Amino acid sequence: MINKSVLEEIKHNLQQYNTKLIAVTKTHPVETLQEAYNIGLRVFGENKVQELVAKAEVLPSDIEWHLIGHLQSNKVKYIAPFVHMIHSVDSLKLLQEINKEAKKNNRIIKCLLQVYIAKEETKFGLDIAELTALLADPQFNELENISIEGLMGMATNTDKETIIQNEFQSLNKLFKTLSTTVHRKNINWKEVSMGMTSDYKIAIEQGSTMVRIGSAIFGGR
Ligand SMILES: *Cc1c(COP(=O)(O)O)cnc(C)c1O
Repeated sequence: MINKSVLEEIKHNLQQYNTKLIAVTKTHPVETLQEAYNIGLRVFGENKVQELVAKAEVLPSDIEWHLIGHLQSNKVKYIAPFVHMIHSVDSLKLLQEINKEAKKNNRIIKCLLQVYIAKEETKFGLDIAELTALLADPQFNELENISIEGLMGMATNTDKETIIQNEFQSLNKLFKTLSTTVHRKNINWKEVSMGMTSDYKIAIEQGSTMVRIGSAIFGGR
Protein backbone atom coordinates (compact mmCIF):
# COMPACT_ATOMS: atom_id res chain seq x y z
CA MET A 1 0.00 0.00 0.00
CA ILE A 2 1.35 3.35 -1.02
CA ASN A 3 0.55 6.45 1.01
CA LYS A 4 -0.09 8.77 -1.91
CA SER A 5 -0.77 11.91 0.09
CA VAL A 6 2.49 11.53 2.01
CA LEU A 7 4.29 10.87 -1.28
CA GLU A 8 2.87 14.10 -2.73
CA GLU A 9 3.93 16.01 0.37
CA ILE A 10 7.47 14.58 0.14
CA LYS A 11 7.70 15.44 -3.56
CA HIS A 12 6.50 18.95 -2.81
CA ASN A 13 9.12 19.41 -0.08
CA LEU A 14 11.89 18.07 -2.30
CA GLN A 15 10.93 20.25 -5.24
CA GLN A 16 11.78 23.43 -3.35
CA TYR A 17 15.35 22.23 -2.93
CA ASN A 18 15.66 20.38 -6.24
CA THR A 19 16.38 17.16 -4.32
CA LYS A 20 15.82 13.75 -5.95
CA LEU A 21 13.75 10.98 -4.39
CA ILE A 22 14.98 7.40 -4.16
CA ALA A 23 11.95 5.31 -3.21
CA VAL A 24 13.28 2.64 -0.86
CA THR A 25 11.32 -0.51 -1.65
CA LYS A 26 13.22 -3.12 0.38
CA THR A 27 11.06 -5.91 1.86
CA HIS A 28 8.04 -4.86 -0.19
CA PRO A 29 6.62 -7.22 -2.82
CA VAL A 30 6.93 -6.55 -6.56
CA GLU A 31 3.21 -5.75 -6.69
CA THR A 32 3.88 -2.70 -4.53
CA LEU A 33 6.79 -1.66 -6.73
CA GLN A 34 4.60 -2.09 -9.82
CA GLU A 35 1.99 0.11 -8.17
CA ALA A 36 4.67 2.72 -7.46
CA TYR A 37 5.80 2.47 -11.08
CA ASN A 38 2.22 2.93 -12.28
CA ILE A 39 1.91 6.22 -10.42
CA GLY A 40 5.14 7.46 -11.97
CA LEU A 41 8.03 6.45 -9.70
CA ARG A 42 11.10 5.28 -11.61
CA VAL A 43 13.93 5.45 -9.07
CA PHE A 44 14.04 2.61 -6.55
CA GLY A 45 16.50 1.79 -3.78
CA GLU A 46 17.15 -1.68 -2.37
CA ASN A 47 19.63 -2.73 0.30
CA LYS A 48 20.17 -6.37 -0.65
CA VAL A 49 21.64 -7.64 -3.92
CA GLN A 50 19.50 -10.76 -4.26
CA GLU A 51 16.28 -8.88 -3.63
CA LEU A 52 17.25 -6.10 -6.03
CA VAL A 53 18.11 -8.57 -8.81
CA ALA A 54 14.91 -10.61 -8.34
CA LYS A 55 12.77 -7.48 -8.54
CA ALA A 56 14.65 -6.01 -11.51
CA GLU A 57 14.09 -9.23 -13.47
CA VAL A 58 10.31 -8.94 -13.35
CA LEU A 59 9.76 -5.18 -13.39
CA PRO A 60 9.97 -2.69 -16.29
CA SER A 61 13.45 -2.05 -17.64
CA ASP A 62 13.30 1.74 -17.40
CA ILE A 63 13.53 1.65 -13.61
CA GLU A 64 16.71 3.16 -12.13
CA TRP A 65 17.99 0.76 -9.48
CA HIS A 66 20.08 2.11 -6.61
CA LEU A 67 21.92 -0.23 -4.25
CA ILE A 68 21.89 1.54 -0.89
CA GLY A 69 22.94 -1.22 1.52
CA HIS A 70 26.26 -2.79 2.37
CA LEU A 71 27.77 -4.59 -0.64
CA GLN A 72 30.06 -7.61 -0.53
CA SER A 73 32.64 -7.91 -3.30
CA ASN A 74 31.48 -11.37 -4.37
CA LYS A 75 27.99 -10.04 -5.15
CA VAL A 76 28.98 -7.13 -7.39
CA LYS A 77 28.73 -9.29 -10.52
CA TYR A 78 24.97 -9.78 -10.12
CA ILE A 79 24.13 -6.09 -10.28
CA ALA A 80 26.94 -4.84 -12.53
CA PRO A 81 25.00 -5.31 -15.80
CA PHE A 82 22.26 -2.86 -14.91
CA VAL A 83 22.59 -1.06 -11.55
CA HIS A 84 22.30 2.72 -11.87
CA MET A 85 24.21 3.74 -8.76
CA ILE A 86 25.87 2.12 -5.75
CA HIS A 87 25.56 4.34 -2.67
CA SER A 88 27.49 2.21 -0.22
CA VAL A 89 31.11 2.01 -1.41
CA ASP A 90 33.35 1.81 1.63
CA SER A 91 36.70 0.43 0.41
CA LEU A 92 39.17 0.53 -2.44
CA LYS A 93 38.90 -3.26 -2.72
CA LEU A 94 35.16 -3.02 -3.35
CA LEU A 95 35.68 -0.22 -5.84
CA GLN A 96 38.22 -2.34 -7.72
CA GLU A 97 35.74 -5.19 -7.91
CA ILE A 98 32.99 -2.86 -9.17
CA ASN A 99 35.43 -1.51 -11.76
CA LYS A 100 36.29 -5.03 -12.92
CA GLU A 101 32.66 -6.09 -13.31
CA ALA A 102 31.70 -2.79 -14.95
CA LYS A 103 34.44 -3.32 -17.50
CA LYS A 104 33.16 -6.83 -18.31
CA ASN A 105 29.79 -5.25 -19.01
CA ASN A 106 31.29 -2.39 -20.98
CA ARG A 107 29.80 0.11 -18.56
CA ILE A 108 30.79 2.90 -16.21
CA ILE A 109 29.08 2.40 -12.86
CA LYS A 110 28.20 5.43 -10.77
CA CYS A 111 29.24 5.14 -7.13
CA LEU A 112 28.99 7.16 -3.95
CA LEU A 113 31.51 6.89 -1.15
CA GLN A 114 29.75 6.13 2.11
CA VAL A 115 31.07 8.28 4.92
CA TYR A 116 30.72 7.44 8.58
CA ILE A 117 29.07 10.44 10.23
CA ALA A 118 26.98 8.90 13.03
CA LYS A 119 27.86 8.39 16.66
CA GLU A 120 26.99 4.71 16.42
CA GLU A 121 29.20 1.69 16.01
CA THR A 122 26.72 -0.09 13.77
CA LYS A 123 26.85 2.21 10.76
CA PHE A 124 29.09 1.30 7.82
CA GLY A 125 31.30 3.77 6.03
CA LEU A 126 34.69 5.38 5.67
CA ASP A 127 36.02 7.83 8.23
CA ILE A 128 37.79 10.97 6.99
CA ALA A 129 41.26 9.40 7.17
CA GLU A 130 40.16 6.33 5.20
CA LEU A 131 38.38 8.49 2.64
CA THR A 132 41.45 10.67 2.16
CA ALA A 133 43.68 7.62 1.80
CA LEU A 134 41.36 6.05 -0.76
CA LEU A 135 41.24 9.19 -2.92
CA ALA A 136 45.03 9.55 -2.74
CA ASP A 137 45.77 5.93 -3.61
CA PRO A 138 47.49 5.59 -7.00
CA GLN A 139 45.41 2.47 -7.66
CA PHE A 140 42.27 4.56 -7.43
CA ASN A 141 43.36 6.67 -10.41
CA GLU A 142 43.57 3.59 -12.59
CA LEU A 143 39.88 2.73 -12.26
CA GLU A 144 38.32 3.65 -15.59
CA ASN A 145 34.93 1.95 -15.33
CA ILE A 146 33.64 3.64 -12.21
CA SER A 147 32.56 7.21 -11.67
CA ILE A 148 32.51 8.62 -8.15
CA GLU A 149 29.49 10.91 -8.12
CA GLY A 150 29.58 12.03 -4.49
CA LEU A 151 29.06 11.01 -0.88
CA MET A 152 26.46 9.13 1.12
CA GLY A 153 25.89 9.21 4.85
CA MET A 154 23.48 8.13 7.54
CA ALA A 155 22.89 10.23 10.64
CA THR A 156 22.64 8.92 14.17
CA ASN A 157 19.28 7.38 14.97
CA THR A 158 18.16 9.96 17.54
CA ASP A 159 15.34 12.41 18.13
CA LYS A 160 17.85 15.15 18.96
CA GLU A 161 17.58 17.29 15.84
CA THR A 162 20.78 19.24 16.43
CA ILE A 163 22.87 16.05 16.36
CA ILE A 164 21.37 15.03 13.03
CA GLN A 165 21.71 18.59 11.72
CA ASN A 166 25.41 18.73 12.67
CA GLU A 167 26.15 15.37 11.08
CA PHE A 168 24.47 16.27 7.79
CA GLN A 169 26.11 19.69 7.83
CA SER A 170 29.54 18.13 8.28
CA LEU A 171 28.92 15.70 5.40
CA ASN A 172 27.91 18.53 3.10
CA LYS A 173 30.93 20.58 4.17
CA LEU A 174 33.19 17.65 3.43
CA PHE A 175 31.53 17.27 0.03
CA LYS A 176 32.12 20.95 -0.76
CA THR A 177 35.75 20.77 0.31
CA LEU A 178 36.41 17.66 -1.76
CA SER A 179 34.64 19.03 -4.81
CA THR A 180 36.87 22.10 -4.86
CA THR A 181 40.13 20.32 -4.02
CA VAL A 182 40.02 16.77 -5.42
CA HIS A 183 39.91 16.47 -9.19
CA ARG A 184 40.26 13.12 -10.96
CA LYS A 185 39.14 11.68 -14.27
CA ASN A 186 36.91 9.18 -12.47
CA ILE A 187 35.29 11.68 -10.11
CA ASN A 188 32.32 13.86 -10.89
CA TRP A 189 31.29 15.54 -7.62
CA LYS A 190 27.52 15.99 -7.86
CA GLU A 191 25.55 14.16 -5.22
CA VAL A 192 25.17 14.11 -1.46
CA SER A 193 22.87 11.21 -0.61
CA MET A 194 21.50 11.84 2.87
CA GLY A 195 18.11 11.73 4.57
CA MET A 196 15.55 9.00 5.19
CA THR A 197 11.94 9.02 6.45
CA SER A 198 12.74 10.34 9.92
CA ASP A 199 15.32 12.96 8.99
CA TYR A 200 14.90 13.94 5.33
CA LYS A 201 13.60 17.43 6.10
CA ILE A 202 16.77 18.19 8.04
CA ALA A 203 18.84 16.63 5.25
CA ILE A 204 17.39 18.79 2.48
CA GLU A 205 17.96 21.92 4.52
CA GLN A 206 21.59 20.82 4.86
CA GLY A 207 22.12 20.38 1.12
CA SER A 208 21.07 16.81 0.34
CA THR A 209 20.70 16.14 -3.39
CA MET A 210 19.12 12.68 -2.98
CA VAL A 211 16.98 11.37 -0.16
CA ARG A 212 16.31 7.66 0.38
CA ILE A 213 12.77 7.29 1.71
CA GLY A 214 10.95 4.03 2.40
CA SER A 215 8.57 3.69 5.31
CA ALA A 216 6.86 7.08 4.92
CA ILE A 217 5.72 6.04 1.44
CA PHE A 218 5.27 2.27 1.74
CA GLY A 219 4.53 1.80 5.44
CA GLY A 220 6.46 -0.03 8.11
CA ARG A 221 8.55 -3.12 7.48
C1 LIG B 1 16.08 1.32 4.65
C2 LIG B 1 17.01 2.38 4.27
C3 LIG B 1 16.57 3.69 4.03
C4 LIG B 1 15.11 4.11 4.15
O1 LIG B 1 14.67 4.10 5.46
P1 LIG B 1 13.21 4.62 5.87
O2 LIG B 1 13.33 4.94 7.30
O3 LIG B 1 12.28 3.49 5.59
O4 LIG B 1 12.89 5.80 5.04
C5 LIG B 1 17.52 4.63 3.64
N1 LIG B 1 18.81 4.32 3.51
C6 LIG B 1 19.27 3.08 3.74
C7 LIG B 1 20.72 2.82 3.57
C8 LIG B 1 18.40 2.07 4.12
O5 LIG B 1 18.86 0.83 4.34
